[in-house]
Amino acid sequence: MIQQSTHNPIKAVGLISGGLDSILAAKIVKDLGVEVHGVYFAMPWGCCDKGKAQSAAEQIGIPLIVLQLDERYLQVVKTPKYGYGSVMNPCVDCRIHMFTRAAQYMRHINAQFIFTGEIIGQRPMSQKRHSMRWIEEGARLEGRLLRPLCAQLMEPTIPEQEGLIDREKLLAISGRSRKGQLQLAEQLSITAFSAPAGGCSLTDSNFAERMKDTLKHGYRNFRETIALKWGRHFRLNPQFKAILGRDEMENKALMHYAHPQDTIMQLEDNLGPTLILKGDNPTEEILKFCAGLIQRFSRYKNETSVPVKYWIAHDQNTIKNILSVQLNETEIEKISIHNAS
Ligand code: SF4
Repeated sequence: MIQQSTHNPIKAVGLISGGLDSILAAKIVKDLGVEVHGVYFAMPWGCCDKGKAQSAAEQIGIPLIVLQLDERYLQVVKTPKYGYGSVMNPCVDCRIHMFTRAAQYMRHINAQFIFTGEIIGQRPMSQKRHSMRWIEEGARLEGRLLRPLCAQLMEPTIPEQEGLIDREKLLAISGRSRKGQLQLAEQLSITAFSAPAGGCSLTDSNFAERMKDTLKHGYRNFRETIALKWGRHFRLNPQFKAILGRDEMENKALMHYAHPQDTIMQLEDNLGPTLILKGDNPTEEILKFCAGLIQRFSRYKNETSVPVKYWIAHDQNTIKNILSVQLNETEIEKISIHNAS
């Protein structure tokens, strides 16, 4: 049983993804009398569900803070110590990074331990017994990382050894089946959670190719990598890359995330894809080619040539014009960077 003093409540930080497992873990720990503080990690390229994490936290009555993954996380993606999973997902290093940051928060609020909804054997890379140990060691959380859903299958953690948490009340779930968790959710009246996801954007091979291309050829700031999730991407040569929006939402998002030195290109009537050209001082040949890309993905696809306007992102007052060259499909296919997604 919990040995709780009214002056020093037992506190824990829980990683909340919006999925069922993390919220079940939070509910179990909270019901043991622990003051639970949730942390949601916002992945710049899309993963999990922030809205669901917030409503789940609200449903079980715990506070939730959102921590943004940033440039530091990109370093993890570039050179993961434990390598990649099936695509470009550095799951073990990713978890180490998140837990390291969650541990800083744990110390900041004087919490005694961290917990997560991880289940042994559920994920192929980060939820094997040995990788769970690497994660704990890598985040310097030895003995302070509790996995309530499978705790009885693991070595007792410090909060269990110290009697802060009753080990008997923790669970022994393992493997990929979700039946036990769904039954538990029903018993605990938990309804706010998202459907299980396969992984983040780094598990998507098309996104991964764009990320590899960006890491290989360089980027000016972290925001540029956020734009990898939108549009059609084309590598013109080592210095230049073009991205075209596929709809109005993507056009706006790409403009918003453009670097001040990027060249923005649009059809004169603004109807069609916005193109963001990355690279300094593009030649006329490059600009005409990019205008050709816009033409290809617009309703003027079959015209010989169309006028396109362009300007440097930081200077909307200096607009110039150029005529497109008509491109053939083979040329376009050759420079496409996995645009299926
Ligand atoms: S799937 Fe993505 S977010 Fe999830 S652990 Fe792996 S790298 Fe991290």
